[in-house]
Amino acid sequence: IKGDGDGLSPVEKEIEKALRPLSFDDFTGQDKILENLKVFVLAAKQRKEALDHVLLHGPPGLGKTTLSNIIANELGTNIKITSGPVLDKPSDLAGLLTNLEPFDVLFIDEIHRLNPIVEEYLYSAMEDYRIDIMLDSGPNARSVQIGLNPFTLIGATTRSGLLTSPLRARFGINSRLEYYDAELLTKIVKRSAFILNTPINDDGAYEIARRSRGTPRIANNLLRRTRDFAQVKGNGKITVEIAQMALTALDVDQDGLDEMDNRILQTIIEKFKGGPVGLSTIATAVGEEAETIEEVYEPFLIQEGYLKRTARGREATEKAYKHLNILPKYRLG
Ligand code: ADP
Repeated sequence: IKGDGDGLSPVEKEIEKALRPLSFDDFTGQDKILENLKVFVLAAKQRKEALDHVLLHGPPGLGKTTLSNIIANELGTNIKITSGPVLDKPSDLAGLLTNLEPFDVLFIDEIHRLNPIVEEYLYSAMEDYRIDIMLDSGPNARSVQIGLNPFTLIGATTRSGLLTSPLRARFGINSRLEYYDAELLTKIVKRSAFILNTPINDDGAYEIARRSRGTPRIANNLLRRTRDFAQVKGNGKITVEIAQMALTALDVDQDGLDEMDNRILQTIIEKFKGGPVGLSTIATAVGEEAETIEEVYEPFLIQEGYLKRTARGREATEKAYKHLNILPKYRLG
């Protein structure tokens, strides 16, 4: 679920690419963000200026990378893609920045994981389109200033809370992507099925959509797997029965929670009396990284009301007990 296409085969990467919307009109959902971006993009183009820097935040798989590519397409510019952890040294950043053409987009994924030294170089680049580079070291050290073409930085992050305030302050446009409801995801699933040449009916599409944790990337993944089941166990068409068979086989339960979602809730309830319990304790008990739980699993469990975050740790809600068929009296024991 986590990375951007990590662990996909070359064929699946091609499919993933084919499913990516390329224009504002092709992008489903996030209406308010889209309406605003359309205005900002058009205004920048009319003035022949670079679009203001854009910060996109929200859980993985909601369309931050997709939207960044769309912004570049709509601006009619190139996009250079990199990520926070990859930009190790200031010279890595300088190399990218000096190669940008006027109004190009530089996309930095996981921008909260930038090396602080690199981040500092980014400030003047964002603010004044220039960077100061140190040449030599020791007694010969001197700094030269390099002018850059006007450009737009788009930063994406799953953890906007970890951004430093000087960096955050340099983004003129700041948008938070929300989870998608089942109706929007149904549209996305149907669109993807059409591209994949896979027949699907409304009920089949809805069944996949409502069990996709509000996330287009997961909806597309489940669609691909369901397509396999339709091909091997059915006549190629995705119906609600085929979708149910596939989702059960993939350990996605009736409410759309996956194996790890359930393991987290079960652990909190059975091992820690429902909580409150700290994140790192949960992580150790379920065998997953704390960071992944916090970025991927927890936001959805909280939004759906299975989990509460309190000052003393995470707590399972009544809904979690009901979901797992565990009597709340267990809590007293
Ligand atoms: P993020 O960068 O937020 O992790 P991505 O932009 O990589 O998410 O999106 C993951 C996948 O989901 C993409 O391959 C894309 O095809 C699909 N996707 C995301 N948002 C949408 C959308 N609004 N409509 C259609 N497909 C989408």
